Amino acid sequence: MSATIDELLANNRAFADGLPTRHLDVRPSRRLAIVTCMDSRLDVFAALGLGDGQAHVLRNAGGVITDDVIRSLAVSQRRLGTRAVMLIHHTDCGMQSLTDDGFRAELQQATGVAPAFAIESFTDVDADVRQSILRVRRSAFVPHRDAVRGFVYDVDSHRLREVEVEAPSG
Ligand SMILES: [Zn+2]
Repeated sequence: MSATIDELLANNRAFADGLPTRHLDVRPSRRLAIVTCMDSRLDVFAALGLGDGQAHVLRNAGGVITDDVIRSLAVSQRRLGTRAVMLIHHTDCGMQSLTDDGFRAELQQATGVAPAFAIESFTDVDADVRQSILRVRRSAFVPHRDAVRGFVYDVDSHRLREVEVEAPSG
């Protein structure tokens, strides 16, 4: 495992050697924050055609709107000038393979301690995107909430599909 990190350090040396030194503004030029899953198949910058210095990218298991994500969005908007929020969940998510109660019990059994955090597993990805949009829209810590949109990324076709907040009727 340490050999993997050593290899990445060598990759970084080659990467830095191939680039000119430059300084970008700390404020993302596209004034955008993206919240998404830690999934290893989603290369956010490549999938969206983004470059360095253009957007904040917040990632966790599931792309869930936790208190810590709200903390980061508050800093992103109030101090670093972002305005729009893009939420991206994806197909075949690891969080769909566990349940809150089951994983909580597993952690408690393995360690003797029940975690203080919510597990935030889900089964319906569209419903979870809608839930995430609403969590951001209802947080007063995040001042710009009119441009919050949610999507599902297909890890096989690489395509994004938008999820509307209003559940389809019928
Ligand atoms: Zn995922």
